[in-house]
Amino acid sequence: MSSDLPETRIREIEHWTGSYLHQAITVALSQSGPDEPSQDWVELMSHFKVIPLELSERKRLFVSSSMLHGAPITEFRDVITAIIKSSRKKLKLVKCTDDSSEKMKDRFIRGLDDSLDDSVVFYRSRVFPKKSMFSEAMSAAESRGKTAADEKSISTEAFVNTCNGCGAPRLRPGKPSCSFCGQDF
Ligand SMILES: [Zn+2]
Repeated sequence: MSSDLPETRIREIEHWTGSYLHQAITVALSQSGPDEPSQDWVELMSHFKVIPLELSERKRLFVSSSMLHGAPITEFRDVITAIIKSSRKKLKLVKCTDDSSEKMKDRFIRGLDDSLDDSVVFYRSRVFPKKSMFSEAMSAAESRGKTAADEKSISTEAFVNTCNGCGAPRLRPGKPSCSFCGQDF
C-alpha cells in the first residue's frame, strides 16, 4: 500500500528492492547451470522484461566457463539492473518534505549506486568458488552425475544473509550496516 508520508513510502521501496534483490540472488544461485531455467527464474526474468538466453547458449557458456552452478551472469546482471532501475524510478516520485526523509532518500540512492557491482561480485564469488584446481575438477566431475544429495547442496549454496530492516541481501560481509535502510547488522 502506498502512503503519502515520504518516510513510509521510502521504507516501502526499500522493502520492495530488498526482497526482489534477495529473490533474484537466491533463485539465480539455485539454477543448475546448463539446464532449462526453473519456472521461478523464468517468471522473475519475465517480470523484469529480461530475455532468457537460448538453451544452446546456456550450455555453451557453462561449458566454456568454470561455473559450478547458477544462472548465466548476463541474465543475473540484467535482472539486477532492472530491479535497481525500477527502484530509482519509484524513488524519484517521492517528494521529501523534511531533512530526515531527504537523508533516508540520499542514503538509499547511494546504496543503489553500489548494488549492481556488489551483487555481481557477490554472485561470482558463489558460482565460481575459490578452490584448488584439483577440487574444482573433482566437483565439476561430480556435478555431471547429479543426485538428490547434490540438489540439497545447491539449495544450501543459495542461502544468503539478509538485513533485518528491509530484507536486502548482505552483499559485503565486512559492512557494519545496510546500505539501503541503514539498519546495523
Ligand atoms: Zn536494510
